[in-house]
Amino acid sequence: MQYPVPVRALCDFTARRGDLDLRFTPTPTAQDGIAGHQLVTSRRGPEYETEITLRGEFGPLVIRGRADGYDPAANRLEEIKTHRGDLAKQPANHRHLHWAQARIYGHLLCQSRGLDTIELALVYFDIASQQETTFTEAHSAESLRAFFEAQCGEFLAWAEQELAHRRSRDEQLSALAFPHPAFRTGQRALAEAVYKGAASGRCVLAQAPTGIGKTIGTLFSMLKAATPHSLDKVFYLTAKGTGRQLALDAAAQITASAPALRLRVLELTARDKACEHPDKACHGDSCPLARGFYDRLPAARLESVQAGCADAEALRVIARTHQVCPYYLAQELARWADVVVGDYNYWFDGSAMLYAATLTNEWRVGVLADEAHNLVERGRAMYSATLQQAALRTARATAPLVVRRALDKVNRALNALHKAYPGPDASPEALPANFVTTLKQASAAMETHFAESTPGAADAGMQQFYFDVLGFLRLAEAFGAHSVLELAEHAGATGRTAIALRIQNLIPAPFLRPRFAAARTVTLFSATLSPAQYQVDMLGLPADTAWLDVESPFSSEQLQVRIVNRISTRYPDRQRSAAPIARLIADQFAAQPGNYLAFFSSFEYLDLVATEFQREHPQVSTWLQGRGMDERQRNEFLARFVPGGVGVGFAVLGGSFGEGIDLRGDRLVGAFVATLGLPQVNARNELLKERLEGVFGAGYDYTYLYPGLQKVVQAAGRVIRTQEDRGVVYLIDDRFARPAVRQLLPAWWRFDGAGSAATQRP
Ligand code: SF4
Repeated sequence: MQYPVPVRALCDFTARRGDLDLRFTPTPTAQDGIAGHQLVTSRRGPEYETEITLRGEFGPLVIRGRADGYDPAANRLEEIKTHRGDLAKQPANHRHLHWAQARIYGHLLCQSRGLDTIELALVYFDIASQQETTFTEAHSAESLRAFFEAQCGEFLAWAEQELAHRRSRDEQLSALAFPHPAFRTGQRALAEAVYKGAASGRCVLAQAPTGIGKTIGTLFSMLKAATPHSLDKVFYLTAKGTGRQLALDAAAQITASAPALRLRVLELTARDKACEHPDKACHGDSCPLARGFYDRLPAARLESVQAGCADAEALRVIARTHQVCPYYLAQELARWADVVVGDYNYWFDGSAMLYAATLTNEWRVGVLADEAHNLVERGRAMYSATLQQAALRTARATAPLVVRRALDKVNRALNALHKAYPGPDASPEALPANFVTTLKQASAAMETHFAESTPGAADAGMQQFYFDVLGFLRLAEAFGAHSVLELAEHAGATGRTAIALRIQNLIPAPFLRPRFAAARTVTLFSATLSPAQYQVDMLGLPADTAWLDVESPFSSEQLQVRIVNRISTRYPDRQRSAAPIARLIADQFAAQPGNYLAFFSSFEYLDLVATEFQREHPQVSTWLQGRGMDERQRNEFLARFVPGGVGVGFAVLGGSFGEGIDLRGDRLVGAFVATLGLPQVNARNELLKERLEGVFGAGYDYTYLYPGLQKVVQAAGRVIRTQEDRGVVYLIDDRFARPAVRQLLPAWWRFDGAGSAATQRP
């Protein structure tokens, strides 16, 4: 069995020493890096070769990579690195790593071309000054061979245990049996779709109801596909932290059912959650867990992979034992894990770590994305960015003169844009050509400042603005029909008006498309994904994506769905709808006392109906969702839903209680949904409608109807959680009776005529 390893990964493993050092050393953007490489190579002669593919073997190791450039006349191999600022400040271990890469390439080139000697050069290209600084070393082929063999030898012991692990893992997964006696209704169909996706290399969209065991069904199936379809890793991605725990529990059930299976399961958490020293910075002079990190990493890495499952808590313990940073230990372990559980960000975001590592290491991965109805909105947020004039002012306050001048230019450009598009909210069609240039100049001025000085606490505002500028520039350069510009006016803390310029993504598809292409298969699943075409269009899924609508395990006898079509919940009708809705809730409560949830489109509407209800029916317990509830308050709200309890919780549709909560049995016996959940009609949504009409011919449905109905079905889905549950859902609005709306509701729902409008008092 061979073990492929990219040159970069080999050197990362063997040549990193000393401190973890993430001191503020601005690295050029990928685009600047590519442009820098091109400029350097364009300065060379006509014989100069670029991007030379090289390969070598050492025992089972197959080392591959592409050298940046080779000048045959000078017999010189160049490793080109772009940078900004003073090279003298470059941490020593960075230079050490770069030399290691150059020497490995040097050996591979000598070997492939039969060279006896070669000159190696590290060429550092300064983006700002466009100057090259070159360091050279002369080598014999023999000395490079010795270096290559020493590096490979150091890696070999690790590679051999990796190969042994992979062999054993694959054998055990082949023999793995489902950890429960049988699949539940619908669970088998879902598991089969995941498996077929991995087998055929297609993506899968699976609408699957709650209660069928989606988490374990999908994870088990993807793991079963790993051996026959050569999956290196499975990534289980979630929208929320609660989903991560479910995935870790499912992985634990699978491993408990197969004692010989040594599956490495890794949980990725955000840095602010994992960090042990939030008051420190990530370098050896500040944080003790960064000091000597790479020297202690091998032992921590070995213990972690031997431990198997490394959830956040287990990682924290291992990291403490070895005195290394738990966050960066987890980043390292992603390379060696079989299953990685983490937020969507790690795969779909612009700088997603798992996605980047998959490309670099050429992994074959199976991706599972849970609660995927969130991905359109999450994708939009990932590819939107805001430039705040108030943040610019904060940055300017501590900036040195040269940076201040550059920031002033940005400020003037913002003001000019605002002048051209006056008013509190405007939508410029495009950024003026010189705006991006001005912003790039400011970004370069800040980078140079950071690279040449030792940043102190006073620079915090400037650093924050610098990151904002980088994020904005990245999206400004990719600006297109998928996004819009929004210019808004705010009153700042001092009362001074400030402008905010936002690139708001509307259609995440162009950004997400490469993410689907990079995986062997991606299965997106959720209880509410229909219609499939909406997801395919908005997310950029491949045209051959398979669609599965999993049969519900629940029967229509379990849930009475009543459409109340004589009440309108449209904005102008809300005032007069309050009394009939309150009466409807009271009548149902009187007929069948128990715990209910009532959902509204806004806090104002919620307050209106709740006030009416409390006045007319003070004997009924009520509890209300408040604006900006913290975790403790949310838990208190949910704690009111005790088994056998009686009362009504008032909540906002699409908020914390509209999805992701599990109130089984008689903890919840019914729900009232007094809204279609349609997003607010405002300038952005109208623009979105127009854009989506132009691109997909479905402006209204894609902007309003489908996202709204998804929320309604999610909220109603709180009522029936198990096959033993019984309950009632009232859909309050005449529009629910329209065929176009009803066809978007779950097929297994039976509409109960007895509760419909005819029986409601006006
Ligand atoms: S513990 Fe915190 S400050 Fe220290 S290296 Fe880790 S993330 Fe950075």
